[in-house]
Parts: sequence; C-alpha cells; structure tokens
Amino acid sequence: MIVVMNQGAAEAEIKEVLKKLEKYGFQIHLSQGVERTIIGAIGDKTRLKSDALEVMPGVEKVMPILQPYKLAGRAFKQGNTEIKIGNITIGGNTIQVMAGPCAVESREQLLEAARAVKAAGATMLRGGAYKPRTSPYSFQGLEEEGLELLAEARELTGLYIVTEVMDTKTLPLVAQYADILQIGTRNMQNFVLLKEVATAGRPVLLKRGISATIEEWLMAAEYIMAGGNHQVILCERGIRSYDTYTRNTLDLTAVPVLKNITHLPVIVDPSHAIGKWQYVPTMAKAAVVSGADGLLIEVHPNPTEALCDGPQSLTPENFNTLMEDLRAFAALLQRNI
Ligand code: PEP
Ligand code: MN
Repeated sequence: MIVVMNQGAAEAEIKEVLKKLEKYGFQIHLSQGVERTIIGAIGDKTRLKSDALEVMPGVEKVMPILQPYKLAGRAFKQGNTEIKIGNITIGGNTIQVMAGPCAVESREQLLEAARAVKAAGATMLRGGAYKPRTSPYSFQGLEEEGLELLAEARELTGLYIVTEVMDTKTLPLVAQYADILQIGTRNMQNFVLLKEVATAGRPVLLKRGISATIEEWLMAAEYIMAGGNHQVILCERGIRSYDTYTRNTLDLTAVPVLKNITHLPVIVDPSHAIGKWQYVPTMAKAAVVSGADGLLIEVHPNPTEALCDGPQSLTPENFNTLMEDLRAFAALLQRNI
C-alpha cells in the first residue's frame, strides 16, 4: 500500500508510521518529495489494515497498490525517476544516447568507436566484454581485458560506460568498471542475477526479454527495486514475432505505454530490434518521437569486419548524420539531445 503523508507532516509523525509498518513486517520504500512524503509499504495487508494507519497523525490517505509491480508503478511515484551519472541525467529533458560496438574487440577498435561517437554527441559508450552468443563457437568477448579497455576509453573521452553483466560470478568485477550495468534480453528473468544487481551499487539498464510482456518486464524491474536499487532504466530492444525479415519486431508502442504506467526512464535500442543498419536511423527517430528518454545504437568503425552484430552497426559517418537529424526531432519536442 501507499501511505501519503500530509503536506508538512512532522518528522515524528513520519517516524511513528514507519515504526508501525516495521512492527508488522512491511518492507518500506520512502519517497521524500519537496511537497510531501510518500511511503511505499509492501507486506501482508491482512496484518495491518489501512484504517489503522489512516487515523494516525500526519497521514493524509492510504491507498492500495493494485498492480503487481508496486515500486515501478506510477502509483508509487508521480514524477519521473531521473538517474544521474556524473554530469548527465537519464529520464530528464535531455535524450541520452549510448553508442558503440556490440563487443569490445581490440584497443584500436574501441578507441576509434569511442572517439567517433563522442564527436557525434553521444554521452555514453556501450560495448560488451562478456557476450551472450547464440553459438558457443562465436566470439565470447575479451572479458576483463575488455573492461580495462572500456575504462581507458572513459578516461580518454569522458564517456560513461554501459556494459553487460551475464552472471553473479563476474558481477563484482563488471560493477567495478561499469557506470551502468546492462542486463541483456536473455537474462531479463534471471531472478538470481536481478537480486544481485540490486545490491551492486550501479544503475541498471534492463533490456526487455525476447518474448516478455510489459508486465513481466516491469516485474523484473521490481526485483531490482525491491532489492533496494531504484535506478532502473528500461530498454525496448525488439521482441520475437512471426516475421523474420527483421531480426526482431521493435515494439514502439511500449514507450508511451511505459511512460504512462511507470516512472522509470525508457530507452530504445533499434539496432538489436531490427538487425539491419539501413533501418536503424528511421526507427531511432521514431523512438525519439514516441517519447523515449534515450537510445542505444551500435556503431562500429568497420562493420564488415565486426566480430559481432556487424550487419546492424552504423558506421561513424552514418551515426553522425543520425545524431544531426535527431537534434531536429528533439527540438520539435522541446527536448535536447
Ligand atoms: C547487446 O546489447 O549487445 C545485446 C546482446 O543485447 P540484447 O540482450 O538486447 O540482445
Ligand atoms: Mn549487439
């Protein structure tokens, strides 16, 4: 349930309510806004009735949370969640672009990609050091060496690093290097991993599962939030449909729907959704128009030589053109990029 405190409720009144909730074993999530305090309480409602709370001093109202996703829902938080990383904000007025190769392949490849995406206006560098490949015979990533290269690229360019963590074993190491931990589509419902990333102290980019409904996706976010980490960014990356012409089907409908039902930032990855670079710019623009807070775009200095996802990667030149076009769309929406 959600306990809304009166505007200007006293500290002591808030404390009393928290004490009461704790006594009955509720998990508490405080949202202390400028105007008022809202307490998200998750637990067994049969043990503590809302009327018992409603009569407490300082309480304005008590509301049940009807959706299964409690912390991720708008009922818990009216305003948008803004995630600050260094000097950038994800979920604010500025549309943030993370770009870079699918996999870190070499120092030369990564630094060239990093310099190019930085020059074009990206604020974050993406690149996998641990790659979840369909075939065990495909390139699996440079692992720790890849993480070191990402750190070097951050040092040289000032770009923040987004990189995938695949399991709990490597999580402490990946978290040392990453500014944002990416949970890939294949791991969206790896609940053990979700619980662990909740305590890793880094924002999480949670990609939509390959066949996940919006509710299942939000419940995955809920795992991370229930574990104490409210810094979750949702990433639509295409879902499996009957059509095989494109790699997946980009569900742009998810963007306005999510913006309505959750306060979490939503970004779009047209590269993995489509799988063909020719269509990426059009859908990146459509994503911005649909209300996305950011984009994830694969960029490779030489896509034909890429060890992973070359066909969907933009060249630095094409990425630069896209960024120029995106600025015009963002301006129309009174947003920055
Ligand atoms: C990736 O970002 O390179 C990736 C593997 O993404 P996804 O999990 O969406 O397939
Ligand atoms: Mn990829």
